[in-house]
Amino acid sequence: MAHRELLHRHRSVMPKWLALYYDEPIEIASAQGRRVTDREGRTYLDFFGGILTNSVGYDVAEISDAVRSQIDTGVLHSSTLYLIESQVELAEKIARLSGIPDARVFFTNSGTEANETALMLATQHRRSGQVLALRNSYHGRAFATVAITGIRGWSASALSPIKVSWVHGGYRYRSPFKDLSDADYVKACVADLREVIETTTAGDVACMIAEPIQGVGGFASPPDGLFREFKRVLDEYGILFISDEVQTGWGRTGEHFWGIQAHDVVPDAMTFAKGLGNGLAIGGVVARAELMDSLQANSISTFGGNPISTAGALAALNYLLDHDLQANAAKLGSRLIHGLRSVAARHPMVGDVRGKGLMIALEFVGPASEPNPAAATALLEETRRRGLLVGKGGLHGNVIRLAPPMTLTEDEAEEALGILAEAIEAVPA
Ligand code: PMP
Repeated sequence: MAHRELLHRHRSVMPKWLALYYDEPIEIASAQGRRVTDREGRTYLDFFGGILTNSVGYDVAEISDAVRSQIDTGVLHSSTLYLIESQVELAEKIARLSGIPDARVFFTNSGTEANETALMLATQHRRSGQVLALRNSYHGRAFATVAITGIRGWSASALSPIKVSWVHGGYRYRSPFKDLSDADYVKACVADLREVIETTTAGDVACMIAEPIQGVGGFASPPDGLFREFKRVLDEYGILFISDEVQTGWGRTGEHFWGIQAHDVVPDAMTFAKGLGNGLAIGGVVARAELMDSLQANSISTFGGNPISTAGALAALNYLLDHDLQANAAKLGSRLIHGLRSVAARHPMVGDVRGKGLMIALEFVGPASEPNPAAATALLEETRRRGLLVGKGGLHGNVIRLAPPMTLTEDEAEEALGILAEAIEAVPA
């Protein structure tokens, strides 16, 4: 089918809120390593990894073989009512990696479902429907997770029954505490947290949920240690802490395997998805047994933890551990941040370069540091024209996000830096 016709049919049958990237949307026809090729035969270096789903690159033999062997058994059947070896093995591995004592794992198909499950566990355990979330957060698109999503443009319904109170902390660049030192910023956020608990809740809050680095919110990263200080306050009230590791897990931040480890905190639960399956649909929750087992009724997921996804995810997880991709993310991440900071120094339009490991963002601003979404959109097109795919995000749609597969090579990092420098130059001031 011709590209134009496909686009027309997409627009006729899909909801209008399902936006496509680019003036001329891309249809990916094949992929290898860190590169994808479209139907017209143009190849792009992928610096968004299919929204961070592609943690270890495309066409990895170990993963394809694991998935193919499962298909060859003929067992495409999926049910948590029977034993599945790869599911048990994957759960054991995640439980061990989580650092959560006596951990249990429940598999879902997506990050949204993972967070829905975590909310259900915490609210049930604490017998409270009150939740604390960070401003500028994104946690999913179902009825409870839209309520805890603090970006209006992604929170499709305001009718969810979850009661949410919002705290500062994630998005420092546009926070009222922006100009404080790290230590004073943390103090101000902790004071805000206390005030929120005292003024907008009855104290019987179920949990706080937070992304260690806010993904959709534009890779907004609070100073290390913020969540340790938050946890001290939460503990005083018996409030549970859930770390949403959907974007920050699996070593992507470079310095740690889970994003929350930068804060020296062991959460009560963590949720994960995206990169685990390297493109296969899988997500889940890892939590203390006492919390996981607080549900009294049965609760299953038909496809969650199915044998294809768990076989593929196990192979992907083994691959990223065996090749120490976390170390690669740390090394190439600092090279990229360093390179981008020197580009930004020449372009006042880039107001902030931030992130950790292979989660790096550029925030585009106008002369008075106001959000400049037009520049971010222009950069998206300019990089695409030069053969590089990047992501967009941020509360105001003015942030460019870089999150390549963690198998990135030095040459590819340099190539991307060169393209980004050129593309920024080409964006009208
Ligand atoms: N949590 C975070 C931090 C996310 O970034 C996302 C997806 N952007 C989700 C949850 C929801 O995941 P999914 O799209 O797989 O439902």
